[in-house]
Amino acid sequence: MIGELVVAAAAGIGAAMAYAVAAPSSQVFGPALVRGRRDDCRLALTFDDGPSESTPGLLDVLARHKAGATFFFCGANVARLPDVARRAASEGHEIGNHTYTHPRLFNLGPAAIELEISRTQQAVRETIGRTPRLFRPPYGIRWFGLYPALRKHGLTAVMWSACAYDWKRSAEAIESALRAKAAGGVIVLLHDGDKTTPGDRRLATARALDGVLPALHDRGLRCVTLSELFGMR
Ligand SMILES: [Zn+2]
Repeated sequence: MIGELVVAAAAGIGAAMAYAVAAPSSQVFGPALVRGRRDDCRLALTFDDGPSESTPGLLDVLARHKAGATFFFCGANVARLPDVARRAASEGHEIGNHTYTHPRLFNLGPAAIELEISRTQQAVRETIGRTPRLFRPPYGIRWFGLYPALRKHGLTAVMWSACAYDWKRSAEAIESALRAKAAGGVIVLLHDGDKTTPGDRRLATARALDGVLPALHDRGLRCVTLSELFGMR
């Protein structure tokens, strides 16, 4: 009986901690942008894990449909594909920080977390001439030491309010998820890379966007950067 109670208590603490660390809407470790106003006619597409070989194709799709977006780049990917990073910025998209090597932050101490963030700030600044103001944690995991590092670098944490699970779905499934979840003020989580692995792995994401963006436009929805959606700067 006592054993069961101990197990239940441990499970309760585990669930609460899991929520605090990884739930998109959790504000336990610190504040994060999750969604904008529901009466807004704009939404924010966000892409994690780039730049990669998939990014140019996605930029083509965004340009074709006059859609703005925010790219959370990994510093190691920026160092590998600086021209792609520069193209995304020069086409009006916002560039955020997604750490240097895409680690699970709960495996790192505060100094290592700060280094992941500062190296990426530097890589983006040296490559595109602008310093990120936004940060998205890899796997959505927030941890001890993260928020002091964000404050030091003037970064705002960003989570999401709609996920299309584009890393594991077909173009058709991604498109139907986007049709169902897109709405005013929503922050949509998508990917233009796969952690720091080289390769063109996001063809389904590009095809889904090419299909769904005209439909969003017809519904009066416009895709803008996060800074635009939240009136920053
Ligand atoms: Zn990621």
